[in-house]
Amino acid sequence: MIVTRFAPSPTGYLHIGGLRTALFSYLWAKKNGGKFFLRIEDTDKARNSVEAAEAIVKAFEWLGLSYDGEVIYQSSRDEIYAKYIKQLLDEGKAYYCYMSKEELAELRETQIAAKERTMYNGKYRDFNGTPPEGVTPAIRIKAPQSGIITVKDKVKGDVVFNALDILDDFVIARADGSPTYNFVVAVDDALMGVNEVIRGDDHLSNTPKQIVVYEALGFKIPNFYHVPMIHNHDGKKLSKRDGATDVMEYKEMGYTPEALLNFLVRLGWSYGDQEIFSMEEMKELFNPKDINKSASIYNTQKLDWLNSHYIKNMPNTELAELLTQYDLVLTSHDKKEILLDVIKERAKTLKELAELAKEILETPTVYDEKAFKKAFKEDSIEVLNTFGAKLTKADELHLPSDYHQIMEEVVNEMNIGFGKIGQPLRIALLGKLSGPGLDSVMAIIGKNETMLRIAQVIAVHS
Ligand code: GLU
Repeated sequence: MIVTRFAPSPTGYLHIGGLRTALFSYLWAKKNGGKFFLRIEDTDKARNSVEAAEAIVKAFEWLGLSYDGEVIYQSSRDEIYAKYIKQLLDEGKAYYCYMSKEELAELRETQIAAKERTMYNGKYRDFNGTPPEGVTPAIRIKAPQSGIITVKDKVKGDVVFNALDILDDFVIARADGSPTYNFVVAVDDALMGVNEVIRGDDHLSNTPKQIVVYEALGFKIPNFYHVPMIHNHDGKKLSKRDGATDVMEYKEMGYTPEALLNFLVRLGWSYGDQEIFSMEEMKELFNPKDINKSASIYNTQKLDWLNSHYIKNMPNTELAELLTQYDLVLTSHDKKEILLDVIKERAKTLKELAELAKEILETPTVYDEKAFKKAFKEDSIEVLNTFGAKLTKADELHLPSDYHQIMEEVVNEMNIGFGKIGQPLRIALLGKLSGPGLDSVMAIIGKNETMLRIAQVIAVHS
């Protein structure tokens, strides 16, 4: 069974780079009927916050990504870590190190002065004398002192680390007893049965240390997939400066979960030249063996394009629900189908969709001056009045075609071109010359509101 996980540190919001590896892990597990866990790596008490952890869980909810079982918090697993630290001590695979802070600092300085790599010097590795007084020891693991450690990475191929260059007997528990990062990651992944680790390649340098822990504890080493970073157009790591990176900001900006996930799955993974993937297709087609070896480039236009695709294809009832977050309650509006049909083609985001809807639903408070001048001719008031009078008399007006018919009657009776009514009416209804078909606009706002807008523009004009 494939078991994957997403293991964010709750130090801030959920970054889209993190979300992408979460998605990859999720898809890979789901595709194989496996398990996907969410583990919050909150052992660094100084940097973590409960709010950040909650925000991650919320983001998962918004995106519709589910995880197996409960969220696992590392902060609640101290006893487990203590047990494995003890095991390593008992087996002689870890040891107490009594170097004081000052001694360590001094060692470091000497090494820097000698232009050597800064590392622990192994002083207490084989120590069996009497420990110095007044020092609470840290616990170090016995790491290999020579040879190589190979990370058999499924994206990058074999990555060979020289033990001497990258390892020393690193601390697995600090003097205060708290376990360290690489130790808990390895223990948790092993105990949770995680056999496929998909994560950002910024973690590649941690992997040999984690392998040391796996080996010391006799755990089976999982498969690793280190995914290249997402870059901006300048080839630099994506940062806040390139736009949003907080997943929940995408929600506020009006992106749909479908579009965001579709966008992310294509950042660093491809299936032929297919761009649009439903969740079902992603689950069916995703395979981490197809993850690209090079960094992917973040492209906002692509995200917008995907978002408008999903908006266009979303049922109107669903869109109406989503628009409530932009203070637009359409859920019980009897003309919401017509309204959303005429505007959904033009919106890149839900926020834009809400704005387009408001432009139609709200009585204009200002008129575009230039457009006003252009649209209003000598006979415009007369045309609008004639149209208004006909509207008053008509009783069954529902569809755009009902309104269209009345416009046609005016045009025929007054023997004028369509523009003669279209342009001033457009100003009356929308305050400007652009926008959707007027017959649709009138059907959406209804007869009374149409007459009110006509009366208003006439009052302003005279
Ligand atoms: N907690 C790490 C992070 O947020 C991820 C660790 C991992 O995936 O192994 O970057």
